[in-house]
Amino acid sequence: MEVAPPPSLKASAPTWPAPGAPLTKLAVTVPRGFRKKRIYLDAGHGADGNTGNRSVLCEDEQDFTLRVGLDLQRRLEATGLFVVRLSRDAPGQRVAYPARVVAAEAWNAHAFVSLHSDARGQAQRWHATPERQCPRQDATPGYSVLWSDEGSEPLKTHRATLARALARRMEAAGFRPYDGVDYTGLYDGDAVQPGVFVDRHAPERRIMVLRRPRIPSVIIETYHALDYEENQRWKEERTLDAFAAAVAQGLVEALAPPPAPANTARPHSAGMAE
Ligand SMILES: [Zn+2]
Repeated sequence: MEVAPPPSLKASAPTWPAPGAPLTKLAVTVPRGFRKKRIYLDAGHGADGNTGNRSVLCEDEQDFTLRVGLDLQRRLEATGLFVVRLSRDAPGQRVAYPARVVAAEAWNAHAFVSLHSDARGQAQRWHATPERQCPRQDATPGYSVLWSDEGSEPLKTHRATLARALARRMEAAGFRPYDGVDYTGLYDGDAVQPGVFVDRHAPERRIMVLRRPRIPSVIIETYHALDYEENQRWKEERTLDAFAAAVAQGLVEALAPPPAPANTARPHSAGMAE
């Protein structure tokens, strides 16, 4: 089992998710005339019989997504650019997935963003504590953003635009896009943006929150829950801070793109074209 790298390795430009790998809190820039957007933030799992994966430290995914969801709601609203509703906001609360879609549509949300963590590849058991064994797999860290190309236009394009903008900003912040090695047959990688994947499950197994909502919806697999170093990084304040800024900028770009070709955005908006 790998443990934290020896100090001698830390000096040379570590890459995510190594302990010293840098993250950048992106400045959020908005086009002139931007109006507040309603974001339905889904804390993944937390439904009957559905606790999600179990992390490298045996935390249930439903508890991780609730914690990160509450944090992200607070940070997004603090920008003044968004009103955010969570699909659930208390431990032990159970909310069926169809009810989440109904709630988001009834609220007329501009976007449905579902937070998850991923569990990939062939895990080993390891002693997270002397008493407790948990799954571990340190080979495939990184985030992914999932969308569905099922249904009609312009919804499909709006989903893809949202997925690419979020992934692009996470990459710019210093998070690592997952390469998709374990997604074969389940998702196809995007030709435009690393870390973006389109649902390719068999029709009866396609993901409901990606295909059903009539508002643009995506899943953010924030990180690989079985990767020890990445799990540690997602406990850090600076990670949550950088993630929230990346999501904020991604949402702005997807939901209020600057008019082309003469855009009215303030500086630093170059390079955002699809
Ligand atoms: Zn999940």
